[in-house]
Amino acid sequence: CGIVGYIGKRDTAPLLLEGLQRLEYRGYDSAGIAVQTGTAAKPGGLKTAKTKGRVRDLEERIPKRFSGTAGIAHTRWATHGVPNDVNAHPHLDPEEKVAVVHNGIIDNAAELRAKLTADGVTLVSDTDTEVLAHLISRAQADTLEGRVQDALRQVEGTYGIAVLHTDFPDRIVVARNGSPVVLGIGENEMFVASDVAALVSHTRQVVTLDDGEMATIKAGDYRTYTTEGSHTASSPETVEYAA
Ligand code: GLU
Repeated sequence: CGIVGYIGKRDTAPLLLEGLQRLEYRGYDSAGIAVQTGTAAKPGGLKTAKTKGRVRDLEERIPKRFSGTAGIAHTRWATHGVPNDVNAHPHLDPEEKVAVVHNGIIDNAAELRAKLTADGVTLVSDTDTEVLAHLISRAQADTLEGRVQDALRQVEGTYGIAVLHTDFPDRIVVARNGSPVVLGIGENEMFVASDVAALVSHTRQVVTLDDGEMATIKAGDYRTYTTEGSHTASSPETVEYAA
């Protein structure tokens, strides 16, 4: 239902929670967050917290030490699997290297779940989204962008997604097909959200992705391209927004 992501120097979790609160008007049943603790110089793991309920319930579950260099957060409106803590996003692979938040519906999730299970993968949630975390972690491409593209090629349906990977701590990779994704361009920091409402308090410079388009955001720059990997032209627009 709602996606927010941030990469930059500021403390990630409070920014993401504030962004989620700005999306609360859309309605949701669960909320969750993942932060990247590593940097390119010093690899680290992901920290996650998620819960059925409100953003303030999530806030209570976040430990004191939860600082990160990049993060993604989600408010869920369940389509596959009941609202509960396990089905809340982000979804991770078993090694906890990949975290994914997703808006939309993966139509061939049942088939992909069956294939993964036949390959010996244990799925822990009832969601359509979890398959994305497994597909990305099992993809063979050298780059995170390539791995996400590989996963998306196997998926039918709608998505707005944001992805963290511990082997690529300097970036967040996002993709859009039928579910909105906007980038917020800051100074040495970048935002991503499913709705400009989540980021206009930080920047008015916005890039709206098209269907079939992806982006990589880093603290200091961003680039957009298609799910097939070809570069797309994008320049930020200034949004007027009456809060
Ligand atoms: N289909 C996903 C789920 O049920 C995402 C729902 C949403 O857009 O919030 O978890």
